[in-house]
Amino acid sequence: MSRPFRVAVVGAGPAGIYAGNILRTRAAESGIDVRVDLFESLPAPYGLIRYGVAPDHPRIKGIVTSLHDMLADGSVRLIGNVEVGADITVDELQSLYHAVIFATGAQRDAVVDLPGIELPGSFGAADFVSWYDGHPDVPRHWPLDATQLAVLGNGNVALDVARVLAKHPADLLATDIPANVHDGLLASPVEDVHVFGRRGPEDIKFTPIELRELGEVPGVDIVLSDEDFDRAGDDVTTGERRAAGNQAKVMARILQSWRDREPSGAPRRLHLHFWHRPVELLGEEAVTGIRFERTEPDGEGGIRGTGVHVDYDVQAVYRAIGYRGTPVRDVPFDESAGVIPNDGGRILDGGEPVLGLYATGWIKRGPVGLIGHTKGDAGETIEKLLEDHDLLADAVRPGEDAVLDFLESRGVRYTTWEGWLALDAHERALGEGFAGDVERERVKVVPRDEQVAISNREVIVR
Ligand code: NAP
Repeated sequence: MSRPFRVAVVGAGPAGIYAGNILRTRAAESGIDVRVDLFESLPAPYGLIRYGVAPDHPRIKGIVTSLHDMLADGSVRLIGNVEVGADITVDELQSLYHAVIFATGAQRDAVVDLPGIELPGSFGAADFVSWYDGHPDVPRHWPLDATQLAVLGNGNVALDVARVLAKHPADLLATDIPANVHDGLLASPVEDVHVFGRRGPEDIKFTPIELRELGEVPGVDIVLSDEDFDRAGDDVTTGERRAAGNQAKVMARILQSWRDREPSGAPRRLHLHFWHRPVELLGEEAVTGIRFERTEPDGEGGIRGTGVHVDYDVQAVYRAIGYRGTPVRDVPFDESAGVIPNDGGRILDGGEPVLGLYATGWIKRGPVGLIGHTKGDAGETIEKLLEDHDLLADAVRPGEDAVLDFLESRGVRYTTWEGWLALDAHERALGEGFAGDVERERVKVVPRDEQVAISNREVIVR
């Protein structure tokens, strides 16, 4: 009888869950008896969906239902609260599994070298998103004392950050935001949120649904400047982008409808600015402003500086200019791209594939694309892994209890699928028991220890 083929997937976000699920299906089709363990550094699964998607995006959070189904039948075993590279090394993991797939995502902010970037009041979007999504490893308090704020970037993360900052907190209460986040937002004196793109309205990386929703935030006016729309003039490449596909046309219509709208005199305003390249954050002891160079089309599809500078008085700057991956100890990492170097999912070291190590999702291809794209990506990685099956399967690997014994011997308080079901039920019960008139689906538990204790049904001593 052939021995099971054991695979560890590192990261229980969408990329890791899709990879585990596709591996199960494809292996079964090829007559391979595969056993998949899904490692997660946090006590709970779902990665970016739990800790990256904005709380007021229940449609996207709904993907959890299908991810839940993929784990619920037990064919992929969840082992949470385990940091690969710290609680267990990659070598140790390889001694227990025939292959390891890294699906660790991209959770840090892209680096940008601007004078003043280190000033208090300068924030990365990744940290702010982690805060409002109740990530256990970020401080519980967020300084929300600015009336005027800048958000850099014209992607969907910039939209999320700007929307959450501008939204009246009562409109977030029906979501799963933790109590400290609601209280923090309630105390915010914000009046104006300015979102800046370094290119034009034709170059936004927003998607239409997310852009449209910005104009529907109650008590917030959208403000646009005609000058930003006239700047490209008759530039040919801008015209081409303007006419390129339905998505561009839909977004142009949305922006135009806002330009046509009379401001309602709402207490908060969200300004969208284009052709602004950030140059410097201003201030001595904290951010007091931000300087931009105005840009214009360079005639070749790019932008050039005009030499004209403009300053805005703001007390906080949020950078939403893209994410990057975090290296895992002893796994090759491309610092400049922020990804694990790979060829179609096979991890490369010095340009050569490392047999038995694979990558999928944002850590494989960088932080672009929507959640659904990770599925196709996982398919490619699994294809490579199964091509290597015969080279890997002869190695002798211990049974499925070995890894749990190992973690226990190290004193690691790992969590399980049953533990997640307990935590999930606990959070839903907190939502039901919420003292207010708003129905809440759940209230997230934030501290890691508390999540682990609830998952493992330990008694919580306060
Ligand atoms: P993104 O879509 O790549 O947008 C990054 C933005 O930052 C771009 O506008 C880019 O401008 C700008 N930028 C980069 N470097 C800059 C610099 N040095 N100075 C000024 N601006 C700079 O990245 P993202 O917003 O982080 O989103 C990542 C992925 O997650 C995307 O695929 C996104 O659609 C997805 N996502 C989806 C949702 C949703 O609700 N559906 C929510 C969040 C994220 P250039 O274009 O000029 O480079």
